[in-house]
Amino acid sequence: MIRDSVLGLVACLALSGFPAQGSAQEAGPTPDEALRLLKEGNARFAADNLKEAKPPSRQRLATAQKQKPIAIILTCADSRTAPEYIFDKGLGVLFVVRVAGNVGGPDVYASMEYAADVLKAPLVVVLGHSNCGAVDAVMKEKDLPTEHLKNLARLVRTGDDAKDLDTAIRNNVLAQTEQITRQSSLLKDLASAGRIKIVPAVYDLKSGEVRWLKLKR
Ligand SMILES: [Zn+2]
Repeated sequence: MIRDSVLGLVACLALSGFPAQGSAQEAGPTPDEALRLLKEGNARFAADNLKEAKPPSRQRLATAQKQKPIAIILTCADSRTAPEYIFDKGLGVLFVVRVAGNVGGPDVYASMEYAADVLKAPLVVVLGHSNCGAVDAVMKEKDLPTEHLKNLARLVRTGDDAKDLDTAIRNNVLAQTEQITRQSSLLKDLASAGRIKIVPAVYDLKSGEVRWLKLKR
């Protein structure tokens, strides 16, 4: 009975992209493998076919003592951009950093450094989203009522050529992605060594699809 439940747990974690304890996968997925797992999860989400974003109690038990996330997701605090749903992942798989406008800053970079260096997460995704209120507020130069909001707005990078919100959102995602290696020498070194991959993407609120972007070189 106990053996059956342990085998079931190992099978469950393998399906979730988890490395099984003591197996050859202890080191976790490569950056490209982690990216593939996210793409597959997003395809399931967009097709209303979630499989892993329904954490049963055995996922809680398996991750209570130790986490081994396969990706760091920097995304907006918007209530509609929940990464565990978007990528169809259960507990302990995604290390999520959320702030309005998915902007970087000291606390954000520190959290990402911890996940990449200590937890060995192999992938960083900067995930913007359609109809982002933070980017829209900056584009329209809205008069923001507090210093906190004004300070956050200063971190949003809409770009000079943005004539519409979609372009501004894409520009901001690309700029925030580039900022990561400029602001964090640790993440830059990990990326240069091929131990992590840092990728920009935009989530579409309506279709549920994540569009993967390429950095301008
Ligand atoms: Zn947003």
